[in-house]
Amino acid sequence: MTNATEYVQAIQEKLHQKDQGQEEFLQAIDEFMPTVMSFLDTHPEYIEKNILELLTEPERVIQFRVPWQDDEGNWRVNRGYRIQYNSAIGPYKGGLRFHPSVNLSILKFLAFEQIFKNSLTGLPIGGGKGGSDFDPKGKSDNEIMRFCQSFMLELSKHIGPSIDVPAGDIGVGAREIGYLFGEYKRLKKYDTGVLTGKPLDFWGSKIRTEATGYGLVYYVKHLLNEEKDSFNQKTVFVSGSGNVAIYAIEKVQELGGKVVTCSDSSGYIYDPEGIDVKLLKEVKEINRQRLTEYANQRPSAIYHAGESVWTLKEKADIALPCATQNEIDESLAEILVENGIKIVAEGANMPCTVKAVSVLHEAGVWYCPGKAANAGGVAVSALEMSQNVQRLTWEREQVDEQLDQIMETIYHTCRQTAAEYGDEKNLLLGANVAGFEKVAKAMAAESKKKKMKLSWKYCEHFVYLLEK
Ligand code: NDP
Repeated sequence: MTNATEYVQAIQEKLHQKDQGQEEFLQAIDEFMPTVMSFLDTHPEYIEKNILELLTEPERVIQFRVPWQDDEGNWRVNRGYRIQYNSAIGPYKGGLRFHPSVNLSILKFLAFEQIFKNSLTGLPIGGGKGGSDFDPKGKSDNEIMRFCQSFMLELSKHIGPSIDVPAGDIGVGAREIGYLFGEYKRLKKYDTGVLTGKPLDFWGSKIRTEATGYGLVYYVKHLLNEEKDSFNQKTVFVSGSGNVAIYAIEKVQELGGKVVTCSDSSGYIYDPEGIDVKLLKEVKEINRQRLTEYANQRPSAIYHAGESVWTLKEKADIALPCATQNEIDESLAEILVENGIKIVAEGANMPCTVKAVSVLHEAGVWYCPGKAANAGGVAVSALEMSQNVQRLTWEREQVDEQLDQIMETIYHTCRQTAAEYGDEKNLLLGANVAGFEKVAKAMAAESKKKKMKLSWKYCEHFVYLLEK
């Protein structure tokens, strides 16, 4: 029988052959594969059923054309996607990203990560992701609405409350979800559970907007608790100034920490007096302005144009990357270590490269992978689905408490699983193995059923041939 190392490496090689050029996807694969080898060593039954190879292949990849009209009446075309990666434990669930960088590789990496993230929440949701290379920046409200309507015209053929339930991600917030939901209703009749992240006025969940940022901070809070520490008096670096970043900053400050940075794709702010969240929300959420506007209105803020926030050389305790993939490479990770950072927790998906993660591990920094630490958003999305089925709206405190409990469970699951495999501080190993085990079990159970069905069909055919 093949040993686990050979088995895993053979699949990895095959994927590198088949998916050449899909850099982000292969990066996610390369990060994941070595961490499940010891698990597979002790569970040869999953090798026998070839579960890992089955799991790395998406169940379905949908690509479509999205034509839309700009305000001058010109027809424009973008590319739309939905990756329905794995439905072993529930309907596909994962956000939609509208950003010019979107391509198949990025969405496949996001959907792959989503499988394990969703599994870690303990809720019955499979993994998916979608989006478009459409850039909402600089577009009018009407243009965004027309784009969303055209996108949904095609997407509506593939989703449903018990099939695939998209939500938001970069470039897709409550405004876009509102337009998408409105179009879905026109096409398919009223079906509240088809999207999550809906505005509160029509079946959204309280705390969904805050969930990813709050959840991230809850995850770190539970880690600090276990280390007999807290956010109190901690200096925190945050990147990004979108949905995840804003609510991570808000929660850190509520728990007594001081966040001194935030960023967007044009530069970053260093505000040694602490980020003014109220002003940040006004600039980014209400007026949809650039961060320079924050600096204009806040005397203590220093704006660094065109630079990464992770080049900042100042002492801090915790780093929360909340912008995008691969924002921290090996050399930036070294700066974090020199700055005295003790915890890096990912609000964004895969913001650290594989080499950056090695630097952090070697320096003894706690590394909290996104698939665990940013699972709060999808967890509250699943709670939104439950509320929609019940036709109820839960109170803010109730949802917030459940979010905190889910993040606590995820944190302990990662740590305990990592300890079982002899490396208690390796939360990446813990997250990957725990997330994988549940999905692998479900997939193995499915294939058993199919085998029985097949053999029954075979018998029927055999009897038919005999009778003939
Ligand atoms: P938003 O669109 O609300 O904000 C994204 C932020 O990141 C903006 O400040 C944006 O700046 C910045 N950013 C985006 N791309 C780049 C880039 N290439 N370089 C530098 N900065 C960049 O998105 P979210 O806050 O929702 O998402 C942020 C991250 O969190 C993503 O990785 C997403 O996948 C992840 N995530 C989000 C969840 C959610 O519930 N929203 C759930 C789980 C993970 P600018 O405005 O200039 O583009």
